[in-house]
Amino acid sequence: MFARLTVTMRVPLTRCLLGSLRGQPGQARALFTLQDHSKKPSSVPLTKESFKQLRRGDFAEATPDDLSKLKELVKGRIETDKDDLLKHNCDWMRTLRGSSPCVVFPKTTEEVSAVLKYCSSRRLAVVPQGANTSLVGGSVPVFDEVIISTKELDDIIDIDADGGTLSCEAGCSLKTLEKKARKKHLFFPVDLYIREAQIGGVVAADMAGPRTARYGNLHGNVLGLEVVLPDGTVLNSMSNMRKDNTGFDLKQMFVGSEGSLGIITKVSMACPPRPKFINVAMVYTESFDHVLEIMRLAKEQLGEIMSACEFMDNDAVMSVKQKHLTMWGVPSKPYYVLIETAGHCDMHDEEKLKFLFNLLKDKELIMDGQIGPLNYDDPTFVERLWNINGRILTALSSTGNVYHYDVSMPHSKQYPLVQKLRQEAGSDITKVASFGHLLDGNLHIALQSESFSADTLDRLDQLITENVTAAGGAVSAELGCGFKSRNLGAHCKDPVEMKLMRDVKKMLDPQGIMNPYKVFPDSQ
Ligand SMILES: Cc1cc2nc3c(=O)[nH]c(=O)nc-3n(C[C@H](O)[C@H](O)[C@H](O)COP(=O)(O)OP(=O)(O)OC[C@H]3O[C@@H](n4cnc5c(N)ncnc54)[C@H](O)[C@@H]3O)c2cc1C
Repeated sequence: MFARLTVTMRVPLTRCLLGSLRGQPGQARALFTLQDHSKKPSSVPLTKESFKQLRRGDFAEATPDDLSKLKELVKGRIETDKDDLLKHNCDWMRTLRGSSPCVVFPKTTEEVSAVLKYCSSRRLAVVPQGANTSLVGGSVPVFDEVIISTKELDDIIDIDADGGTLSCEAGCSLKTLEKKARKKHLFFPVDLYIREAQIGGVVAADMAGPRTARYGNLHGNVLGLEVVLPDGTVLNSMSNMRKDNTGFDLKQMFVGSEGSLGIITKVSMACPPRPKFINVAMVYTESFDHVLEIMRLAKEQLGEIMSACEFMDNDAVMSVKQKHLTMWGVPSKPYYVLIETAGHCDMHDEEKLKFLFNLLKDKELIMDGQIGPLNYDDPTFVERLWNINGRILTALSSTGNVYHYDVSMPHSKQYPLVQKLRQEAGSDITKVASFGHLLDGNLHIALQSESFSADTLDRLDQLITENVTAAGGAVSAELGCGFKSRNLGAHCKDPVEMKLMRDVKKMLDPQGIMNPYKVFPDSQ
């Protein structure tokens, strides 16, 4: 039987680590293979050598005169030392390495503008870079593009507690913004997956997570942007207003544009009041149909206080090192649902959650069992449960090669796909684990094998792309296209949409200097 399953604590919303992923050359659908982030950047092969079929664009090569000029434009804040450049040239997953001769660190919008104007006049290709945590290789050069870092653009401009808005420069980290918002009793509405990520990069990548369904995505929460266009023109769309119906909402084009249209220099965000109480619980169940019924009832019963509803299957949870699960009192069960509420009245929230559990039990939707430790004074309880979810990919990667897919599709089609993969993925796949953000139909599938094989990758790409597109889904739900998944658009976007995207790109960036070889399929 369940013991008391709800725990109410005054704890901050916790982070959920997705894991690290890796791509391989020349595939229609990018491979994500988990990699060792501790690997030395110098040991990573150069991207231009791994992807031999790629041709360098018709851009100028930066000369010593160019470097001197750029140095002057950013008042000396330039890095040209080969060793120090490595961490900027190499991606977070240690799978790609460019050979940029420099990274510049502009401190003001004017400096960003001057740098872009100069690069445009010289036809030098550029890569905007935030914290360089992109999992799809969006933030590193492919050849010798000039890296423009937003690290020095780190001022908070304004926090309006009454209006619930925060505006800042693009280089502010999520960690800083969460802290600043918290001080004003506001909630910064971006999941803290990776605390060093910068808001400019987060907006450019249109980052999402488990709590997106509750707090909205960045297309809704970004109220204003300042963007420097490739020719150096400054587009000022900064605003703290939630309503502005005058003309086109042009800033939306830059949310998720992955550095292909301009450099975001300032951001204004809507921040809701910070929830005071977080409740979290895990339930175990026998079938995926039950998982979906639990989600439906949770939505119905918890309503506005539900902040996340995550699903994990047995293969996913059991991959997390046994010692953690024993320590955290999590048994082996077919399916797990992690439910989080975030509200302002602990009694009310707890009562609602208790009612939900009783209902789930009465309907025999959840199996007997209990989670622990049920210690009301244990401040790590919430984090432990979230940690199971967050460690799945890294745990799987520590015992083999992992092909990872991040897809969106109708709920009813999700687990049938996982089961189909178990049947059809091939004999070299030893485990198919899945987990996902139920509230926004985002499923992560991790297929484990002893070692990487390009043939397996091709087979899996095809199998997954076919099934996801046939179900009306998207083959990249939240990680973007960047370099590794650049060819995906051709599979899942309407040709008219692709043409309009290309037209917009040509209009804003006629020379194609902004983050080339990213977002758009090779053939285009
Ligand atoms: C462990 C881990 C887990 C993750 N989990 C998730 C997840 O679950 N969901 C999810 O959505 N993402 C996830 N991510 C990736 C996530 O997209 C990034 O962490 C974050 O959004 C990017 O922030 P950044 O500052 O590192 O940007 P970068 O990685 O530096 O850049 C990201 C992209 O934006 C461009 N860019 C950067 N700054 C600017 C700017 N100022 N203007 C214009 N373009 C710019 C870059 O060129 C690049 O294309 C994860 C990353 C890691 C390392």
